Amino acid sequence: MKTRSILICLLLVCGGILSAAELLVEAESFKHKGGWVVDQQFMDQMGSPYLMAHGMGNPVKNAFTEVTFRESGVYNVYVRTFNWTSPWSDGEGAGRFKISINGEELSTVLGTTGKKWLWQLAGKIKIQAGMTKISLQDLTGFNGRCDAIYFTTDAAKLPPSDLTSLNLFRKEKLGIPEIPKNAGTFDLVVIGGGVAGISAAVSAARLGVKVALVHDRPVLGGNNSSEVRVHLGGRIESKPYTELGSLQKEFGPLRGGNAQPEDYYEDEKKAAIIEGEKNITLFSNYHAFAVEMNGNKIHKVIAKHIETGMEMAFEGAVFSDCTGDGTIGFLAGADYKMGRESKVEFNERTAPEEADKLTMGASVQWYSVDKKEPVSFPIFKYGLSFDNLSSEKVTMGEWTWETGMNYDQINDFERIRDYGLMVVYSNWSFLKNEFKENNLYKNRALGWVAFISGKRESRRLLGDHILTENDLTNYRIYPDGSGSTTWTIDLHYPDPDNTKYFPGAEFKSIAKHKPIHPYPVPYRCLYSRNIENLFMAGRNISVTHVALGTVRVMRTTGILGEVVGMAASLCKKYGETPRDIYTNHLEELKELMLVGVGRKGLDNNQRYNEGSTLGDYKP
Ligand SMILES: Cc1cc2nc3c(=O)[nH]c(=O)nc-3n(C[C@H](O)[C@H](O)[C@H](O)COP(=O)(O)OP(=O)(O)OC[C@H]3O[C@@H](n4cnc5c(N)ncnc54)[C@H](O)[C@@H]3O)c2cc1C
Repeated sequence: MKTRSILICLLLVCGGILSAAELLVEAESFKHKGGWVVDQQFMDQMGSPYLMAHGMGNPVKNAFTEVTFRESGVYNVYVRTFNWTSPWSDGEGAGRFKISINGEELSTVLGTTGKKWLWQLAGKIKIQAGMTKISLQDLTGFNGRCDAIYFTTDAAKLPPSDLTSLNLFRKEKLGIPEIPKNAGTFDLVVIGGGVAGISAAVSAARLGVKVALVHDRPVLGGNNSSEVRVHLGGRIESKPYTELGSLQKEFGPLRGGNAQPEDYYEDEKKAAIIEGEKNITLFSNYHAFAVEMNGNKIHKVIAKHIETGMEMAFEGAVFSDCTGDGTIGFLAGADYKMGRESKVEFNERTAPEEADKLTMGASVQWYSVDKKEPVSFPIFKYGLSFDNLSSEKVTMGEWTWETGMNYDQINDFERIRDYGLMVVYSNWSFLKNEFKENNLYKNRALGWVAFISGKRESRRLLGDHILTENDLTNYRIYPDGSGSTTWTIDLHYPDPDNTKYFPGAEFKSIAKHKPIHPYPVPYRCLYSRNIENLFMAGRNISVTHVALGTVRVMRTTGILGEVVGMAASLCKKYGETPRDIYTNHLEELKELMLVGVGRKGLDNNQRYNEGSTLGDYKP
């Protein structure tokens, strides 16, 4: 496997590039991150990855870097940040931090103000030409965030705030070339390295396809990574294609459980399987944000490194959107749906009378650990109050902690994630500081709180077939039935007990299950109906909201990813499109599905199916 990471690390020092008496420094390009994390989740909405002080209430270690100023002078220092608790509280924000230049602290406390991302003036400082150290000092441990720092000798010259101008400004000041670097030409470009993306990439590679895997985190696995900590659900090796899914035995974690310690998720196995495939080039830390089209075909996907901002173009014959959010399809103009369909649209019993925007929510999972002695937690009150009745008396929170069902899971996602953090901290603060019977909590500290929020639903790209509830419950089998979905139709709703105390702002969910018989998902759900060379695998395939309830679990997304990889190999063999494989080569695809791509002879222990719910519905 070739990797670009080393080259990119070398480019980090170019985070700041000089022009006259101004300098722009991207926080995510800081050489030493200290305890700050790089958060790229909202870059399409707010413009950039940023550094965040995710200390769970304990101030994190300073982040610092060195940049060269060519001119001495008195500089005005602007920091792009905002008060992330502002949607819930008018007071000063929870995520406070300061900036120091060459060890001299600027007095303004940052992250305190603004309801949206803005340039906050940190102060003025005299800087000598030459190497200069910039440090970020976290004051609270509560998710202060810094996107960029702009130094200017001209106090009147603020960087732009609207996203289009700001993007141009960044590119110019950071010296990002107008034309992205060519990453190469591939048979298949897979975007998104969750279980679906890994499976699609490996399956194709083993069938002789040259693959680029573009993934916007340092760690592979998506929701099953140690960054999100969701365990695998669903069954592998189900009829009629009993070899599908065996691939997952090579990289799937052996243990189950949500919100467990990091090692449960075995990130290293996912890295190893990709590393072991000579036909895959992994581009980790690259976020795809644009496409170049050739008619209704994608010609190139453009991705940006989440630390250096450097851009790369990936040319491919076919592409697979495994981003979860259907981002590549959206950028390409693919037909998609989001929210719930009305009952009449597909004649689904479980659908609501009227279509609406409700989706399943996102989860910030967390747990606490026993410190064996009393440990304090700061009072965290930013507009959300808990009492004996409304508080959750728990030491961890997993899938039921779910936010944002009523919000837009793409455009409001930062707020949705932040509400996830708000409720964890506010509830914990109540248990630690106000709850009278707090014996269970007084020796405990927050041990892990996710900052990558696990998403369940957003865009669903539309294919030549849209899988519906009726397909599943009437067991309507199509000639292109492929990998089987085995989980129940598992849909989430706000928890009525939580609604009592937080109407419209629920953060707990309930699941309603409808059993199904294992059902072979039509291949036509796995490619776009209007973008000719676009496959999709993962939760963004062609299904209704109701049908998403079953196909969204990761053993199933992996199986369907494998099918995409097989179909991509046929696209290469015949120089044809995903639809042509259905029309002209379905029998050959079936042969590939019968054989599978997983290594033979691996332990077929039941544990690979642990945590799955097999419906008892019989057609
Ligand atoms: C709390 C919770 C509990 C759940 N419980 C279960 C369960 O018990 N069992 C189960 O199997 N499933 C469960 N699910 C559902 C399951 O996790 C998701 O449906 C599944 O992860 C979707 O897979 P995916 O590959 O489409 O997306 P993801 O797992 O999200 O992977 C997509 C990856 O693509 C990357 N990416 C996104 N956009 C870009 C871009 N533009 N450029 C480059 N990379 C990009 C992302 O960083 C991410 O890592 C749960 C989900 C949640 C949130």
